[in-house]
Amino acid sequence: MTDAAYDYDLFVIGGGSGGVRAGRIAAQAGAKVGLAEEYRMGGTCVVRGCVPKKFMVYSSKYGKDIELSAGYGWSVGDVSYDHEKFMVGLHAEVDRLSAIYDRNLKNAGVDVFDDRAEFVDKHTLRLKKSGKTITAKKILIAVGGRPWLPSAEELPGVEHVIDSNGVFELTELPKRMVIAGGGYIAVEFAHVFAGLGTEVCLVYRGDTVLRGFDDEIRLAVHEGLKEAGVRVVTKCVFNSIEKTDAGLTVTLSSGTEIETDVVLMAVGRRANTDDLGCDKAGVKLAGNGDVIVDEWSRTNVENIWAVGDVTGRVALTPVAIREGHAFADTEFGGKPWKMDHANIPTAVFTQPEVGTVGISEAEARKTYGEIDIYKTKFRPMKNMLNGDQTRTFMKLVVRASDQRVLGVHVVGDDAAEMIQTAAIAVKMGATKQHFDQTCALHPSAAEELVTMRTKWVPEGV
Ligand code: NDP
Repeated sequence: MTDAAYDYDLFVIGGGSGGVRAGRIAAQAGAKVGLAEEYRMGGTCVVRGCVPKKFMVYSSKYGKDIELSAGYGWSVGDVSYDHEKFMVGLHAEVDRLSAIYDRNLKNAGVDVFDDRAEFVDKHTLRLKKSGKTITAKKILIAVGGRPWLPSAEELPGVEHVIDSNGVFELTELPKRMVIAGGGYIAVEFAHVFAGLGTEVCLVYRGDTVLRGFDDEIRLAVHEGLKEAGVRVVTKCVFNSIEKTDAGLTVTLSSGTEIETDVVLMAVGRRANTDDLGCDKAGVKLAGNGDVIVDEWSRTNVENIWAVGDVTGRVALTPVAIREGHAFADTEFGGKPWKMDHANIPTAVFTQPEVGTVGISEAEARKTYGEIDIYKTKFRPMKNMLNGDQTRTFMKLVVRASDQRVLGVHVVGDDAAEMIQTAAIAVKMGATKQHFDQTCALHPSAAEELVTMRTKWVPEGV
């Protein structure tokens, strides 16, 4: 298979979830593969995203769980939390996982370069640290994304903020934190820090967080933030940030000033294509820097592909992995297939968490007109003895014409775990009758997904 005209059959730029999967599968299929990673193997997910974030979610939940355990007969003495100690454990685990990614690639026969690769032309890359030039028959761009911050002109004092990467470098737990944004990252960290005991204020430019999700899910999360003790300020953005003797002062567009210790901006991410040299290779980018690809992850240049966050399709780890796998199977394994971006399950690790698959009620009404809605809100069994008033919310969006379940939306403990399984049914095209015919598992919260019998009728109808 190897073409002697090039150093490699495939060169992958970026050692995150998508790049590592593609490199490994291509090498296992017999290709000569090289991969360059400028920072640490594992990419955003392993090093400064999903994995360390989920550990922080687990950590932050203990405080409330310890408090609530009294209802189950436990009495606990002095409780304290040591952020530094926790972060040592977190980083040790991240190091372990990053090393596994590295090892798996090398075991598959991939040449790994701890270096930054930039295009010289469509078949040639230069490694920045070593100065080495490498040629490859096929090149995969899998460089991911990075947090976006406004410029100093747009936001005076922006140099005082941290982004989501900076969260994992905080060795001390801040007493006060102001967070900008209303997306996944902002709401997840608002709960994390509120749970750990930080006084949190979330500033969102819209009126209800999590734009794009089902409206009732958004409302539940929005209210849930307040119930968790987060001060939520809406329809506002930051005007400036000033360093003071007491910490930082954030001035909002409303004129309100907020004193804080840490300002976290979680206002979106951008593709990591700056200075990658895509222009030298002739690879077309969208206005925001995303690499433009087709359904096979092909760019406009015939020997260059891109997968994962850099393509701006769906910025989720398992999506990048599948896109990378599909590319490698198609180009090197003789098994062509495409990633299907429909019905991708997703979770937002708020407390309680959101799990969702398929489309929202509003989107379903817009697309299909007549829709049946089944929904329920209840206090889960666990909360009956511990005094926790948190409720679980579930909604099924069903197409009236053929009873196909178009969306399953849950806010509640273990929603992510429930939705992973429900996603199989939705992907298979299950109908409401299939849900009805499925025997409940008792006692569980998930059983409510198959026991909702009464169609929701709007008030006054
Ligand atoms: P999102 O795109 O989800 O959210 C960005 C937020 O910032 C939105 O609320 C947006 O408001 C707001 N915003 C954007 N620009 C500005 C601005 N100029 N001023 C003020 N507010 C602004 O981005 P995130 O950074 O939270 O996450 C990026 C992606 O990473 C997610 O979309 C998701 O795909 C992935 N991710 C997944 C996680 C998971 O699976 N659990 C966890 C974390 C991230 P508006 O709503 O008005 O546009």
